[in-house]
Amino acid sequence: QVQRALRALTIPLERLQVMKDHMMQAMQKGLSRSTHSQAPVQMLPTYICSTPDGTEKGDFLVVELCQSQVRTLMVTLLGDGNLSPQMMYKTFDMPEEIMKGSGEALFDFIAQCVSQFLADTSSSQERLPLGFVFPFSCRQIQLDKAELISWSKDFSCSDVEGKDVGQLLQSAINKQELSHVELVAVMNDTVGTMMTCSTEGRPCEVALVMDKGSNCCFMAEAHLVEIAKETSGRMCVNTEWGCFGDNGSLNDIVTPYDECVDNESSSPGEKRFEKMVGSLYLGEIVRHVLITLAAEKVLFKGSNVAILKEKGVVKTQQVLEIINHEEGLAVTKRMLEALGLPPNERDCSRVQQICLAVVSRAASLYAAGLAAVLTYMCQTREMDQLLVNVGVDGELYQGHTRFEEILQSVTRLLAPECVATFLPSTDGSGRGAAMVTAVALRLEAQHREVNEVLAPLRLSLADLEQVQALMRQEMELGLGQETNANASVRMLPTFVCNTPDGTEQGEFLALDLGGTNFRVLVVRVTEEGIRMASEIYVIPTAIMQGTGEALFDHIIECIIDFQTKQDLMNHVLPLGFTFSFPCKQVGLDKALLLTWTKGFSATDCVGQDVVQLLREAAQRKHQTGLNVVALVNDTVGTMISCGYDDPKCEVGLIVGTGTNACYMEEMRNVGTVEGDEGRMCINMEWGAFGDNGCLDHIFTSFDKLVDDQTINPGKQRFEKLISGMYLGEIVRHILLAMADRQLLFHGKPGPKLYCKDIFKTKFLSTIELNGLALRQIRAILQDLDLDVSYEDSVLLREVCEAVSLRAAQLCAAGLAAVVEKMRESRGLDQLTTTVGVDGTLYKLHPTFSENVQKTLQDLAPKCSVTFMPSEDGSGKGAALVAAVACRITSSGQ
Ligand code: ADP
Ligand code: MG
Repeated sequence: QVQRALRALTIPLERLQVMKDHMMQAMQKGLSRSTHSQAPVQMLPTYICSTPDGTEKGDFLVVELCQSQVRTLMVTLLGDGNLSPQMMYKTFDMPEEIMKGSGEALFDFIAQCVSQFLADTSSSQERLPLGFVFPFSCRQIQLDKAELISWSKDFSCSDVEGKDVGQLLQSAINKQELSHVELVAVMNDTVGTMMTCSTEGRPCEVALVMDKGSNCCFMAEAHLVEIAKETSGRMCVNTEWGCFGDNGSLNDIVTPYDECVDNESSSPGEKRFEKMVGSLYLGEIVRHVLITLAAEKVLFKGSNVAILKEKGVVKTQQVLEIINHEEGLAVTKRMLEALGLPPNERDCSRVQQICLAVVSRAASLYAAGLAAVLTYMCQTREMDQLLVNVGVDGELYQGHTRFEEILQSVTRLLAPECVATFLPSTDGSGRGAAMVTAVALRLEAQHREVNEVLAPLRLSLADLEQVQALMRQEMELGLGQETNANASVRMLPTFVCNTPDGTEQGEFLALDLGGTNFRVLVVRVTEEGIRMASEIYVIPTAIMQGTGEALFDHIIECIIDFQTKQDLMNHVLPLGFTFSFPCKQVGLDKALLLTWTKGFSATDCVGQDVVQLLREAAQRKHQTGLNVVALVNDTVGTMISCGYDDPKCEVGLIVGTGTNACYMEEMRNVGTVEGDEGRMCINMEWGAFGDNGCLDHIFTSFDKLVDDQTINPGKQRFEKLISGMYLGEIVRHILLAMADRQLLFHGKPGPKLYCKDIFKTKFLSTIELNGLALRQIRAILQDLDLDVSYEDSVLLREVCEAVSLRAAQLCAAGLAAVVEKMRESRGLDQLTTTVGVDGTLYKLHPTFSENVQKTLQDLAPKCSVTFMPSEDGSGKGAALVAAVACRITSSGQ
C-alpha cells in the first residue's frame, strides 16, 4: 500500500513531457488575442520591456502590499552594475478591518505608511520615483496603470475591483502632500524576482517563484504578446501558471490526496497546479497520505491518529527538513513525537519516503513548467540553443539541495536545447520593484534622447506639403525656356512622344548602363509577347573612373561578346540604349551627357553626344553592325515597359541605387522644345532637386556627413535622402551619433562601423521586417563586429524606420507634385493614372512602397494612382522605345 501511494505520487518522464507540451500550448493561447480569454494560463503583459543593465542610478521608493502588512523600502542604486544596492525598509502591520474595509481607506493607509517612512528617511532627490508591488491578479494597461481583476488572499476592499490601482495610490499619496513622490510602475511580485537577479552583462529573463503560491514570468518576444500594443523588443509576461490544470488537463496525475487538499482549500477546483507545488500545500498533501495509510492500518498501528485530521499539523518546512537534513530520520521522529504518534523506525522511514515523493513531484512539475517556458523562448527567438538566467525565489528553493537537484536535472531532460543558470534572488519583490522603476526611468530618459536625435528626420504633413510645393516650383522653372538654366530639377525632354500601342514587332538589342549592373540584351517582341535573353557584364571601377574612350571601348567589347554568344554576329538589329545619367537630349538618338552620377566619372564625356561616343568606339573596334535608334533614361524605359501592359502608365519612377522620375507632359508646357501639339515624356532628373539650396532646411547633420563623403558633394541632394546608395550610410551615421551619446552598443561601436558603406541599405529591409527577426539582426551586426543587446536591436529598428519612412515620404511628395501638375494641365477634377516603378529598394523593402502610396494619397487626394512594378524596365523598355521608333519611321509618321 505504501508502494501504491508512492507510485501515485511519481510522474513518469513521458507524462512530464506531455505536461510541458500542454503548458506550451496554454501559453500560446494566453498570448494570442483571439484565444486569450479562454486560455488555461492568463499570460498577463506587464509592460516591462527591459531588464536592468547595471547603469541604473538613484534613490527609488517601493511600497509593497503583503499578506497583512505594508512594507516600504528605499533602494539606492549606484550605477555600479547593481552589485551593491543599499536598502532601508520598514514594515507596518495592517489592521484586519482595513483589509475588508473601503478601498479609499486601504490606499490612505498605504499612503500614510509611505509618509511615515519618508519622515525618517532622507533622500535629496527632487523627484522620488515609486514602484508599487501589488500581488493580485491585474489587467495591466501601462507600466503605471493596472486594473484589479479580483481580490484574493483575504482582501476584499470595496470599490477597487475594475479600477486602476496605480491611480488610486497616486491620489492617496497626493492627499498626504507628497507631491514629489511619483508612481512609475505597478507590478506583480514575480516580476521583481526576475529583476533583482539581473546584473550587468548578465540579464535574467525568467523568474520562478516557488513559495506558498507558484508563478513564473519571462521575457517574451513583444510581437507575440498580442494583447499589448508594443511590437518590437521583448516584454515580461506574467504567466499566472498556478491556474494551469483548472480545465482538467492534470486530472490523470491528480491523486486522491490532492483532491482532499483541494476540497479543504478556500477555492476548490481552482489553481490545481499551484496546489500540487506550492509550499502552502506540500505539508497538507503529506498529511493526507498519512491519514489514508493510517486508515489502511499500514502506518501508526494501534495509535490514535485523530490529530492528523487537523489542518496544518504537518508543516511544509518540516517536510523539507525531513528530506534534506542529514538526520532526516531524527527530524521525522521528533515530528511524529510532537504529534503524539509512535515513532517506530519503520514508520519513520516510510514517512520520510512519502515526504520525498511529494517534494520530488513538486520539483518535477516545476521543471516541466519551466521547460515549457524555456523551449518556448528558444523557439520564438529562433535559436538553436538558449542560454538563459533563471531567477528563483521562495522557501522551497532556498537551501534545499534535494529540490534544487531534481528541478535542475529534470529541466535539462525536458528542455535539452536550453541551458539555464539558476540565480537565487534576495528580497526579490522589494529590490526588484526598485529595479523595475529604475529601468523604466532609464528607458524614459533614453527615449527622450533617441527622439532628440531622430526628431530632425521626422517630417510633418506640412513639411511634406512644402516639399511638394517646392518640387512643383522647380518643375515649372525647369520647363521654362528662360528659367531652365537655374532650376535644380532639369526637366529634360526625351523626344519620346508615344507609348507602345501593342502592334510593335521585331528583334532588338538593348544596352543598360547606369544601374548596378551593365547588361546587354536581345529582346524579341512578337504578337505572343516579349522574350528576352541577357548577359551581365562587370564594369571595373578603374574603367568607371578612367577615360571615356576606355569606357566605351569596354562597352563595345561586351556587345561583341554577347553577339557571339547569342549567335547574332551577322544581324544588324536596332539598338535601344538605356543610359541612366542626366543628358540633354537633342533627338531620340542624340543626347549630350550633362554630368556623371552614381560613382561614374570617366573623362571627356560630359558635354559629348553619348550615342556618338558609342558609334566611335564601334568604329575603333571594327564593329560595323551597330544601329543605335534611341537613347533613353531608365525611368523612361520603366514607364514604357509598363505602358506596354497598361496604357494608363504615364509616369516612371526609379528607387534603386539612385532615384529619378519621368512623366508625360503637355508639349505646350515644354518651353525648351518647339511645338505645342501632343505630349512628350520629360525626364525630371529629380535626384538633383535641392542642389540650389531650396531643401536645405530639411537636411540633417547626418545627411551633411553622408554628402561630404560622396564623390559629388552638394549634388543630387534629393537623391541622397532617398535612394539605396545612401540610406545605409545615413543609418550608419545616426548609429555612430547614438553610440557617442551612450545610447547604443554601450557607447563602443567598434572600428568597423566607422567604415564608409559598411552598413548596406538591404540591412534596413531585414531589420524592418515584421516580427523583429532578432537572430538575423544579430547576424548582420556580428559581421560588423557589433555585439548587440536586444534593446540595441529595437533601437536600431527605430532608426532604420525613421530613415526609410522619410525617404518614402519625400519620394511621395515629389510624385504628388507630378500627378497634381498632370491633373491640372489636363483640366481634370480627378486624375487616374499609373506609375511604372523599378528599383530594388522600392521592390524589396518591406514598407517603402506602402509608405509612398499612403503619403501620396494624403498629399494628392484628387489623384488616384496605381503603382505597377516593372519587370526589367531598363532592358525591355529600351527595346520597346526602339520598337516604337521603328514602327513610326516605317509607317512614315
Ligand atoms: P539600380 O538602381 O542600380 O539599377 P537596383 O534597382 O537593383 O539597381 O538597386 C540597387 C540598390 O538597391 C542598391 O544600391 C542597394 O542599396 C539597394 N538594395 C539592394 N537590396 C536591397 C534590399 N533587399 N532592400 C532594400 N534595398 C536594397
Ligand atoms: Mg535600375
